[in-house]
Amino acid sequence: MLPADVVKRFEIREGERFRLADVDPGETLGLDIGKDEARDMLAAGVKRLDDLQERLYAEGRWSVLIMFQAMDAAGKDSAIEHVMSGINPQGCSVSAFKVPSLTELRHDFLWRTTCALPERGMIGIFNRSYYEEVLVVRVHNELLAKQGLPAKLVGDDIWKQRFESIRDFERHMARNGTVVLKFFLHLSRDEQRKRFLDRIDEPDKRWKFSLGDVAERQRWDDYMTAYEDAIRNTATEHAPWHVVPADNKWFTRLVVAAAIVKKLEELDPQYPKVDDTALAAMMEARKKLVEEDGGPPDGKKAKDGKGKDNKSGKDNKKG
Ligand code: AMP
Ligand code: MG
Repeated sequence: MLPADVVKRFEIREGERFRLADVDPGETLGLDIGKDEARDMLAAGVKRLDDLQERLYAEGRWSVLIMFQAMDAAGKDSAIEHVMSGINPQGCSVSAFKVPSLTELRHDFLWRTTCALPERGMIGIFNRSYYEEVLVVRVHNELLAKQGLPAKLVGDDIWKQRFESIRDFERHMARNGTVVLKFFLHLSRDEQRKRFLDRIDEPDKRWKFSLGDVAERQRWDDYMTAYEDAIRNTATEHAPWHVVPADNKWFTRLVVAAAIVKKLEELDPQYPKVDDTALAAMMEARKKLVEEDGGPPDGKKAKDGKGKDNKSGKDNKKG
């Protein structure tokens, strides 16, 4: 697993001075490791994540919202797949946000994502998010027209207002126990070209290719400007951005895994403690279970006190 201080290099908590040009999409911090080693490192991170997620779920207090934004072919889907691979699916939900439906367009721009926010104890992953509202919608102004807002509310400062709404909303989430982590997988234009060619050339990858993606690529610079401005305006202490180099998928996954582990370790969720009365009742139940069959199956004794009540808290919740 990558150490926490590596994560810090890609973490933006204060957006004002952020410049996209300062992050090299090809960065690997001089780490020159083979495929196997990268896989082992990721496996260690995933295992740690699994343990932390179980405690988050058992504790049932915090929610964790993880958002992924990126240009096409930057590896959002595969980062989600690999990083979350070891996690209990019951503690996690993934929502992908595509072109909004008519119903979604008839609500405010935070509505559809709000409905998908994770419950307490859950990790919610957003594959794209309300940030599209200041990215694709900003690059393609005609999309804003489709939203049917009252004309007098759509002025030059609409993006500034949306950033403000997003900041307010993320502060609201933070105050209500939802921890927000945002990832921008930063791909170079040249690497995107290679990956598109790969998708066209390999029959099993063709389903991923869309002609529309090539059209979006023509607006690359506009997208980068929009991303930079969005990050500058919405990177905060309680909802940091992580701008993760994305030209090497193995490196992207390691950074993403380490960033999530770092945040969960800070939260340090605990298995609920069983109080003395409940523990006494539990021991009574145990005694009966043991007696049912004439004695303990393998001579096991109940652990008194601490270790045991942890375990039972978890089992209660999951059962
Ligand atoms: P993909 O995630 O590659 O399958 O594509 C989903 C498409 O939906 C992307 O082109 C996004 O830009 C687009 N999309 C997502 N959210 C919005 C939105 N709020 N308004 C317009 N387009 C969106
Ligand atoms: Mg796409």
